[in-house]
Amino acid sequence: MAVGGKDRSMLLSRGLLSILEKDELDSVIAHELMHLKHHDAEFKVFSRVLSRILFFDPFSKFFDPAVHREREYLADEMGGRSTGKPAALASALLKIASRGAPAKASWGLSILGRGRGIFSRYPPVQERVHRLLLLSEILADSRGAGTKN
Ligand SMILES: [Zn+2]
Repeated sequence: MAVGGKDRSMLLSRGLLSILEKDELDSVIAHELMHLKHHDAEFKVFSRVLSRILFFDPFSKFFDPAVHREREYLADEMGGRSTGKPAALASALLKIASRGAPAKASWGLSILGRGRGIFSRYPPVQERVHRLLLLSEILADSRGAGTKN
């Protein structure tokens, strides 16, 4: 998970280090770096505070989770582009997802979360994997086009 604030840091669990290959780990780190780069940690707090203030507004119930889901897709895409290996992130997500839901304490902070649908802060893993594999094909195509010229 990415931790914002003055000292930008990232927490990696030992469990994660033990199950992921190097490429997959790189891609997870790239994803979290994108969150830090785009100040997502601070933004998430802001968005959460805002949605608490606006708790009486039904719109905010949709707004906060929707914002989180978009930031996840964005971090996936930017991370995938920066490593050039979006497929490695896809396989990392699948590996992490196969271990079951994350501990409650890390909800909202880790790379994967519980829940589905419009109230979830995380997009469905299948959709993230699908988009990452698509990006992988696009990157492969553009590399192929580059070598032909
Ligand atoms: Zn994320």
